[in-house]
Amino acid sequence: MARSPFHPKALVEDRRSVGAGTRVWAFAHVMRGARVGRDCNLCDGCFIETGSVVGDRVTVKNGVSIWEKVHVGDDVFIGPNAVFTNDLRPVSRRRDDLRPTFVGQGACIGANATILCGLTVGRYAFVGAGSVVTRPVPDHALVYGNPARRRGWLCRCRKSLVFRAGSARCACGLRYRLAAGRVREAAR
Ligand SMILES: [Zn+2]
Repeated sequence: MARSPFHPKALVEDRRSVGAGTRVWAFAHVMRGARVGRDCNLCDGCFIETGSVVGDRVTVKNGVSIWEKVHVGDDVFIGPNAVFTNDLRPVSRRRDDLRPTFVGQGACIGANATILCGLTVGRYAFVGAGSVVTRPVPDHALVYGNPARRRGWLCRCRKSLVFRAGSARCACGLRYRLAAGRVREAAR
């Protein structure tokens, strides 16, 4: 018999909420009604709440909680003890005005970073360790600090992009255009 992808000490309330090939490590908890894609790694001590969405090939390192209304795209890396939120004005009883957070495909959230709710972290963006993100993060932006500010632009491969006349070409071969404060991949 194939080895279970779930550690015997993992708590997966409904196995149907977890895609094929996803591994759930010890003391991680996936609630019923959460949606987790394929080939993810949910490391020790994660909590995936009802109403959250995790894409495919996502790594969630130890001690991360993905709350209701947090949407994590494909190929995202979430560093250890990163913090998401879903309520700007928390009170002790349940509220109905939770705000969503979106993390775009290929983004990386550094260890111990905090992401306030109601924001989007763009595709292939990088949030430095320990940052506090209080504003939306554009695609391919490198941000860090408290509050996190944009410090540069990064290729998909994580190398810095240097724009000249609105164009950049990474050593890996990918090309980008910068216009109106937004970076887009250009045709090769
Ligand atoms: Zn590159």
